Amino acid sequence: MRNLTVIGAGVMGRGIAYVGAFAGFQVYVHDISEEALDRAESEIKREMEKSVQKGYLSQQQMEEALQRILYTTNLEEAAREADLVIEAVLEVMDIKIDVFKKLDQICPPHTVLATNTSTMSPTEIAAQTSRPDKCIAMHFFNPPHKMKLIELVRGLDTSDKTVAFAKHAAEQMGKETVEVNEFPGFVTSRMNCLIGNEAMYMLMEGVASAEDIDKAIKLGLNHPMGPLELADLVGLDTRLRNMEYLYQTLGEKYRPCPLLIKYVKAGRLGRKSGRGFYNYEE
Ligand code: NAD
Repeated sequence: MRNLTVIGAGVMGRGIAYVGAFAGFQVYVHDISEEALDRAESEIKREMEKSVQKGYLSQQQMEEALQRILYTTNLEEAAREADLVIEAVLEVMDIKIDVFKKLDQICPPHTVLATNTSTMSPTEIAAQTSRPDKCIAMHFFNPPHKMKLIELVRGLDTSDKTVAFAKHAAEQMGKETVEVNEFPGFVTSRMNCLIGNEAMYMLMEGVASAEDIDKAIKLGLNHPMGPLELADLVGLDTRLRNMEYLYQTLGEKYRPCPLLIKYVKAGRLGRKSGRGFYNYEE
């Protein structure tokens, strides 16, 4: 494992690129948007500088890691020598399938194609390629450079060799893994979306303020973050897509809270837009 390609330079893609570069991989980051690539480059640098200031990284480690990351809007350039591709584009099945079909054409036969989907079926994505045995979900957590876990989700035809390869790559990136059989939302998103949705209903019903809901869950239930601040970190548009998929596949208990829908319509997407359940503009 030498060459990692990350598709999508948003919240997750840039974090996965950071982790990959720090693990010593040559990393290509691809996005269809120049602006997303520019933002990813400056955010990765900013995060690494913070780690240097806190003493987690040396200046030299930072410079070496930054040199290992290349950014391009050209998918072919990004993927033609990849050993592992991790796709982190929007949580929309048609977009993911389109990306996987293209990757299947571009990548060498040995390349493992992984999706960072939070909820969707790796089997459905893999079925559109000529290598379903080499497709898997590697579900990272936000922010990838701080969160320890990667959920490995095996599709119907994922081979044992692919699972072992993904586990090894995860370990090289300093992560722990759990192996999960495919089911919508896996273990973590299925649980997390329910908690977040319930918190949004409480806010809508006037049970408590956003601050007090989050404080209650942190101090009373020992969660490191409150569910509303976590939803803001994830991105409310991404969370709504997750909820819609789980609602379609698992039914009524995942119906997205109307307040979440209203916030997304208003463009309040959380940290990435400057405002969600909290205001980040000040
Ligand atoms: P995001 O909206 O921050 O970024 C998505 C990026 O994909 C954008 O930069 C967009 O320009 C790019 N993109 C769209 N279509 C593309 C294409 N065809 N080719 C290349 N790039 C394309 O999204 P995100 O929050 O990083 O989520 C990405 C994936 O990771 C989703 O599947 C999401 O469910 C999953 N995920 C998100 C989180 C989270 O906390 N945000 C956590 C775990 C998993």
